[in-house]
Amino acid sequence: MSVSSELALSNGTWVKLICGASNEDLPAISDLCAVFAAAGVHCVDVAADIAVVNAARKGLDWVEAHFGVKPWLMVSISDGKDIHFRKAWFDPNLCPITCSRPCEKACPAEAIRDQSGVLSRKCYGCGRCLPICPHGLIQEKDNHLKLHDYAYLLSEIRPDAVEIHTSPGRGDDFEATVKELIKADVNFHRIAVSCGLEGQATNAAQLAQELWQRHSCLRKHGQKPLWQLDGRPMSGDIGIGSSKVAITLWQKIRPIAPPGPLQVAGGTNLHTITHLKNGQRPEGIAFGGMARKLIQPLLVEAQAQNLSLREWPEGWKLAIKKARQLINPWLSNNPLQNNLDEDNSHAFSKDRRSKIK
Ligand code: SF4
Ligand code: SF4
Repeated sequence: MSVSSELALSNGTWVKLICGASNEDLPAISDLCAVFAAAGVHCVDVAADIAVVNAARKGLDWVEAHFGVKPWLMVSISDGKDIHFRKAWFDPNLCPITCSRPCEKACPAEAIRDQSGVLSRKCYGCGRCLPICPHGLIQEKDNHLKLHDYAYLLSEIRPDAVEIHTSPGRGDDFEATVKELIKADVNFHRIAVSCGLEGQATNAAQLAQELWQRHSCLRKHGQKPLWQLDGRPMSGDIGIGSSKVAITLWQKIRPIAPPGPLQVAGGTNLHTITHLKNGQRPEGIAFGGMARKLIQPLLVEAQAQNLSLREWPEGWKLAIKKARQLINPWLSNNPLQNNLDEDNSHAFSKDRRSKIK
């Protein structure tokens, strides 16, 4: 039997997939959620959008039917302006035909292609294209929801958990957001709080103070916290440097953090585990850009065949292998790992009888 999400939080084997708070690439989201759920994550975190949630559930339902596991579905929102909630945009008609298109090369999501501008549904707001245009054509557009939309939206979506991206100095905005979530009348397993060193908190002690404020707010409203330290946001696919930032921040915050599981994020990748000292272990980890980068070539190949990864056995097996390479070190002592290490071919015998919609 699989380890439940709540148990994984308490025994320090929690792993989350971050699909991206602004990512609306629906076919990719269905497959990403399916692959990482089957590989063993305890939670998938997606944009707070009905179409995105439906796409995620399509992948999760498929995994539940074939493997008997169902991670939590978390949606991400923000209590104010936040780089995770933005899109890039430019007018392609203004681009000189002689431009070597550095924006296209910089984009990790293949959201800028051919002569069209930014494919909005694929853009997750990493910002790497913004400074790169020699003609200054690329703009940032705010993509975050309004406070008063949250209650209705969450009552429709009914996720297992919500993550609030907050920033130092926004304690009042955070509380206003929590009050809106409560109006949705959903029994959230956790309210996660994602925050890093930015704004008014430039060191670990100031950040911890902010987290303690969020803790007292959540407890006051009867909610259970889950902390996410955002080391270097949306940078896990870049390399070893970004992975160290996340662990260094966790090492500083852990002794002074409020109660509740503390997961590392923001720059996490295959190198992250190498930065831990003997005996150190965060309660959890979340993978975003690196998780997507590992699977992306297979998603592109599947889509070129007009298939989902779930309909392409060879691609599925490769995707599972890559996902496990990333998450298995964090699932140690987790029976789920062994359970899911079996060959997945039985899933496809069902597939062949009934093509997945
Ligand atoms: S580089 Fe980042 S911000 Fe720019 S289009 Fe691609 S995903 Fe969006
Ligand atoms: S770099 Fe600027 S000018 Fe060149 S294609 Fe991209 S947006 Fe257009």
